[in-house]
Amino acid sequence: MPSAALRSSERETRIARLAAERFDVVVIGGGITGAGIACEAARRGLRVALLEAGDFAMGTSSRSSKLIHGGLRYLALGDVATVRSTALERKVLHRIAPHLAEPHWMVVPARSWAGLVKLRAALSAYEKLGEVEPADRHRNWSGEELARGEPILDRAVHPHACVYREYLTDDARLVLANLRAAAAYGAAVLSRAPVQAILREGGAACGVEATCAESSGSDGSGGSDGSGGSDGSGGSDGSGGSDGSGGRFAVRARCVVNAAGPWVDAVRALEDPNASPKLHLSKGVHVVFRRERLPLRNILILGTEDRRSIFAVPRGEAVYVGTTDTTWSEGHTAWPRIDAQDVAYLLAPLHRQLAAHGLGPEDAFAAWAGLRPLVAEPGKPPTEISRKDEVTIGPAGVVSIAGGKLTGYRPMARGALERAAEHAGLRLAPPVEPEALPGGEGAADLDALARGLAGVPAPVAARLARAYGGEAAQVLARGARPLAEGASLVEGEVDWAVDLEDALHVEDVLYRRTGVALYDPVGREALVAPVAERMARKLGWSDARRAAEVAAVRERLAADLSFKDHSKSAEVRA
Ligand code: FAD
Repeated sequence: MPSAALRSSERETRIARLAAERFDVVVIGGGITGAGIACEAARRGLRVALLEAGDFAMGTSSRSSKLIHGGLRYLALGDVATVRSTALERKVLHRIAPHLAEPHWMVVPARSWAGLVKLRAALSAYEKLGEVEPADRHRNWSGEELARGEPILDRAVHPHACVYREYLTDDARLVLANLRAAAAYGAAVLSRAPVQAILREGGAACGVEATCAESSGSDGSGGSDGSGGSDGSGGSDGSGGSDGSGGRFAVRARCVVNAAGPWVDAVRALEDPNASPKLHLSKGVHVVFRRERLPLRNILILGTEDRRSIFAVPRGEAVYVGTTDTTWSEGHTAWPRIDAQDVAYLLAPLHRQLAAHGLGPEDAFAAWAGLRPLVAEPGKPPTEISRKDEVTIGPAGVVSIAGGKLTGYRPMARGALERAAEHAGLRLAPPVEPEALPGGEGAADLDALARGLAGVPAPVAARLARAYGGEAAQVLARGARPLAEGASLVEGEVDWAVDLEDALHVEDVLYRRTGVALYDPVGREALVAPVAERMARKLGWSDARRAAEVAAVRERLAADLSFKDHSKSAEVRA
């Protein structure tokens, strides 16, 4: 693959290119769906542009459970085709990005022998569909193995268990890898460029009008809510070019693809203000605890009182627990509120099924929430709505894609792109073999890769191998010193984020490039100032800008945990 870099310093050049060229496809949305489509389209010979309203992956694609999984539960719903496709995708992702699809044992406890037999039958079917290798197939854990393998599990509640393989990813980094791959194949990709209108020629969509959120008069501090600022007014006369004021520019393309996730309906309204909504948004929350407070060794599946399953996932020094699945009717937002009830719902199974005495909301050191952009099925609660994707074509020819899962992003992107190409009369080269994503080369054995990373403590090397795969040594070469005394983050990671992954704000680095805000109990506070300092030097920020960045991200970090105040006041009331 040609070299794959998204340099923050080349933003103006990219805007000039976007405004000057005529593209085959312009994709709206830089989550996994948009990134997957851009990557597939660029590899199949199309001229591609992609515009993201906020930071890349700042919507749902950085809020998932971070599992590449076939969705065992959909088997029970009889959705065999989806299960087969996603189960097979795990293998492909592991091949093209082993660092972003690492196999882990998943422990499924069972209350009775009969329950265990039923579970094993389902797993056998699942593994057959996913063509799972013999070494990776599920196995029973005896009581002794259970005591040794997962001592925190209360064996009085669950005397049996079965373990099977699923894959753990870093959702935001998977998005970045696809965007960098798309850019390497010629795509013009830009973040913080909300699309505000659909351009038309003779009634047909012929491009979009966007603004550059970094040059629209603000000092650029803090994040954006990714909403694109759309007022649904849409429509413009199709005259291209950048007007140079307020950062507005037009991107002309033969086909417009709307991959805006929870904002799909808002973008559809730009094309047709009368379009009826298609989405049912469902909120999913995760809370994060220190691993010493919740000492798990494997990914654990726990049953909830309403007969759902939630995951408890160990990751470095953290264990995250999620997710909820509740209707969200407060409109699209990048930062859905986390309520005390969400956290209580996630804590209840821990108390019932683990010897995790006394774990409460106050023990959480991080949390995140995202909105699932489900295709509405009137009358059904969110837990029962299919996760299938759906492509629709609007009156001006805008191709909208909604639904789906992170795991199935490649087949989903292929389907949407082929439909778009057919509709717009684009010549698409035949499908190409999956190819290693950036970092995917040389990452087949992550432990060996980590051992080869000199100059950093073993836990840091292990984390770097998993974050950057075969590119970890290049990251270290940019600076192996810790960003602060005792910190896990090294200087090279900030430089890499700015130089190759288009990081423009402290929030981008802490939340989506490194995951410090999600998994590092000390670093999420302690690294704010050092990251800002390093970015200020690289990007030439003023002191005022640096201070604003620090203030904005601290506010964000505190807002993630605001449920603690509500939990306390609920306790006081009780
Ligand atoms: P998004 O990631 O939201 O991307 C849409 C993008 O469009 C956003 O970045 C937004 O800023 C941008 N945008 C919006 N308006 C505009 C505009 N006007 N101009 C330009 N850009 C715009 N799937 C799995 O396979 N495994 C899991 O473990 C898993 N867990 C999940 C857990 C939770 C809690 C949730 C909510 C989902 C989970 N999923 C999982 C599903 C998966 O995360 C989503 O299907 C996927 O991330 C959706 O990606 P997307 O690109 O469609 O949407």
